[in-house]
Amino acid sequence: MDLGIKDKTAIVCAASKGLGFGCAEGLAKAGVNLIICARTDGPLQEAANKLRAHGVDVTAIACDITTDEGRALVLDAATHVDILVTNAGGPPPGHWSDWERDDFIKAMDANMLAPIALIKAVLPGMIDAKWGRIVNITSLYVKGPSANLGLSNTARTGLTGYVAGTSRDVAKHGVAMNNLLPGIHATDRAVSLDTGLAAAQNITLAEAKTQRSANIPAMRYGEPSEFGATCAFMCSQHAGFMIGQNILLDGGFIGCTI
Ligand code: NAP
Repeated sequence: MDLGIKDKTAIVCAASKGLGFGCAEGLAKAGVNLIICARTDGPLQEAANKLRAHGVDVTAIACDITTDEGRALVLDAATHVDILVTNAGGPPPGHWSDWERDDFIKAMDANMLAPIALIKAVLPGMIDAKWGRIVNITSLYVKGPSANLGLSNTARTGLTGYVAGTSRDVAKHGVAMNNLLPGIHATDRAVSLDTGLAAAQNITLAEAKTQRSANIPAMRYGEPSEFGATCAFMCSQHAGFMIGQNILLDGGFIGCTI
């Protein structure tokens, strides 16, 4: 399918690895020029080179997207942003009794306020152009919260509420904004959560992965490439009537009808 977005420009945040890279690659395959970021320059430059193999322009900026300075660097790299994919590392797991105010502030800075600041920065240009696509990478736990990921649940549902209202306000300008909710995908983040489970239950990493896969109806972890292909579709010409949705990609893990 021709996604109809060749030669558009996208910012894809936190994209040297994992789901961010999957989204960047999905867009690169559709001919979208990219501005990507991550904090560590080496893997970021490697990712940029892989993406350039698809024949698109890639600007790679080593920065922390959760800071004002990082966001300014990324935003300054674009003359016009057609597509924004927000993303950052997720908060650590833990227990409600351990989390203090600073832990919540950190989680909200990364997974709620950083995407909101980026959205606010790009929306005026998209509205002027009468075209824009925004996809926020959130989490399956927005629909089915997990007790040990309370910091993530809190920050991401805040972003979800903001997107629910704002997306409906800007839809009349040709801007389609939605959230993409990953279930367990085979990335470093999944390894980190598997490692936590292995330590908590005194089992091996392989046993932790098998245990978590067994709870997924598809009986496997998702791949960043299939996540990226869905993101690219949500950024395509064909997705202009999709507004304010929370699209769950979790192999059927969360049992809900909406
Ligand atoms: P990942 O494999 O650990 O990759 C994270 C990427 O983000 C890396 O490129 C990392 O590079 C970059 N990054 C992290 N923090 C950043 C920051 N502050 N500024 C700029 N770049 C940053 O993670 P992932 O699995 O793709 O997860 C992406 C998001 O989806 C996370 O928020 C995660 O919590 C959420 N999620 C993932 C899963 C899953 O199973 N994978 C499930 C639900 C939700 P640097 O470290 O060099 O910055």
